[in-house]
Amino acid sequence: MDTTLTNLLDLDPAQLIAYCAELGEKPFRAKQLQRWIHQFGAADFDSMTDLAKSLRDKLKTRAEVRAPAVISDHTSSDGTRKWLVDVGNGNAVETVYIPEDNRGTLCISTQAGCAVNCRFCSTGKQGFNRNLTVGEIIGQLWMAEFELRRTKGIEPGPKGERQITNVVMMGMGEPLLNFEPTVTALKLMLDDNAYGLSRRRVTLSTSGVVPMMDKLSQEVPVALAVSLHASNDALRDGLVPLNKKYPLKELLAACKRYLEFAPRDFITFEDCMLDGVNDRVEQAAELVHLLRGRVPCKLNLIPFNPFPASGLKRSPHDAVLAFARVLQEAGIVTTIRKTRGDDIAAACGQLAGEVQDRTNARIRLQARRGASEVRP
Ligand code: SF4
Repeated sequence: MDTTLTNLLDLDPAQLIAYCAELGEKPFRAKQLQRWIHQFGAADFDSMTDLAKSLRDKLKTRAEVRAPAVISDHTSSDGTRKWLVDVGNGNAVETVYIPEDNRGTLCISTQAGCAVNCRFCSTGKQGFNRNLTVGEIIGQLWMAEFELRRTKGIEPGPKGERQITNVVMMGMGEPLLNFEPTVTALKLMLDDNAYGLSRRRVTLSTSGVVPMMDKLSQEVPVALAVSLHASNDALRDGLVPLNKKYPLKELLAACKRYLEFAPRDFITFEDCMLDGVNDRVEQAAELVHLLRGRVPCKLNLIPFNPFPASGLKRSPHDAVLAFARVLQEAGIVTTIRKTRGDDIAAACGQLAGEVQDRTNARIRLQARRGASEVRP
């Protein structure tokens, strides 16, 4: 007899209906179940009081609702909250909540490590370990939403004030290289019986996996951010190795195609500002030449968070301002990202800081688990 429990966090709405059908239940039961899990944060089948007792008994022997365990939980002085989440075999990923006046954004991870190996990214330096499952991806949102509510004493359920209003897939990993689980998790984020987020409030960030950008536009076209970082192919080849496979011309053409389906009428391009590498005003002018009239876009300039193995330095603030001015004067909306969560190493590009050394990761994770485990 198969004693493996089905983790219901792994199932999208259609799969949950199919699962309930296997148990001899009607589709509306799947909807009820889905609401209990994703709107009330329930993991205990006995608490799902409007399900028939016979169904609850079946579920107790065959299914579970299991998000990845939280190993550590830190809150920064600016309110940014970072969880280190155990994804097994000594691997961990990070989930970061960034509160702002009118919204709460959750940055989630889609892979343990990353194969793309961008030069300025500490996750890339740890190499690729494995793809996260649907349950591990959506489980980050599930854990964070209901943990935030618990902390603030806000009731679960659709009436309780939602804490996470926006999701960005900008944590560890290249989401489009873990396509199916990422798409399933996105569908759950958008589903009215789960989180009900609008496509405009969910942003996927990619380093430019061109064929998968097209596929995403057909399956679940959420808002798109593209890690650009360079104004020409020679420079980008050295910063984002994937550029050798999908050079700028192909990437920008894919961005344009994506916009036909996107919920916003622009692509967000991200530039990590590196001292003396990609931050000169001539390079800003080259960027204007590359983008203007080609792809409706906004530029987000990101201060680099240095880490020892990179050999790179953060651009001086004046250089970033001068760079931004060139873009703005050319009519390209340009923002400079505020760094958040610096004191807990939750700022962009620092996410892998605590798990870079995979050799010792398991030992550290076990030590942390003993010291500060927080469970959803
Ligand atoms: S920036 Fe993104 S795609 Fe590049 S190595 Fe880091 S996680 Fe991977």
